[in-house]
Order: sequence, then C-alpha cells, then structure tokens
Amino acid sequence: MRIWDVPPERLCRNHLLGEHRELHALWSIIINNKKGYAHHPETMRWRGKLKALYLRHEALVEEMTKRGYKHHTPLDPAFATGEAVQDELVDSYKEQIRLLKERGCDCRV
Ligand SMILES: [Zn+2]
Ligand SMILES: [Zn+2]
Repeated sequence: MRIWDVPPERLCRNHLLGEHRELHALWSIIINNKKGYAHHPETMRWRGKLKALYLRHEALVEEMTKRGYKHHTPLDPAFATGEAVQDELVDSYKEQIRLLKERGCDCRV
C-alpha cells in the first residue's frame, strides 16, 4: 500500500490507477478504524491528515479525468478534516523517484 508524493501527472497509467485504488482502501481503513494495516507506515502518516489525503485524491481524479477515465467513487468531504498538508514521507522524494525509475514503467520521473 503506497501513496506517492510524486505529482499525479508524472505517473503512468498503472501507478495512477493503482494509487487511486489504494487511496480508497486507506481512506476506508482510517475512517472505519480498521485493525488491519492500522500500524502500516502509510496509514500512520495519514492519520489526522485526512484533509491532505482528500486533496491528494482530488489531484488523482483530476489527472484521471484528463486521461479520459470516469470516476464514480467520491470521498465524503465530511471526513476531510485535520491537516491539509502532508510533510511526513515514508520514503524520501528522491527515493520514490528511484523506485519508480527502477520499475521501468511509463512514469515520467
Ligand atoms: Zn476515487
Ligand atoms: Zn509507473
């Protein structure tokens, strides 16, 4: 489970759609207080920052829409509370770029 800190427009199709799917799972874990993944580093860093996670979702959806994908799964903005900025990274930005390059996919990194 991973939410990238890379701008959505740089992500290839697989990484963009994959992150979107995982973001919904993560959102559900946090708002429903699910036990599984509760201590996953990605879960930990977004807790108390659902506003920021909401905004990341909006950015992903904007990019998906630009690429012609239809989006039918809006997040409930009532839960979009807490900090609006995510400044705690699981891997540094540099490391994320390295990881994406290593995949050899179409991400523009
Ligand atoms: Zn969505
Ligand atoms: Zn990619």
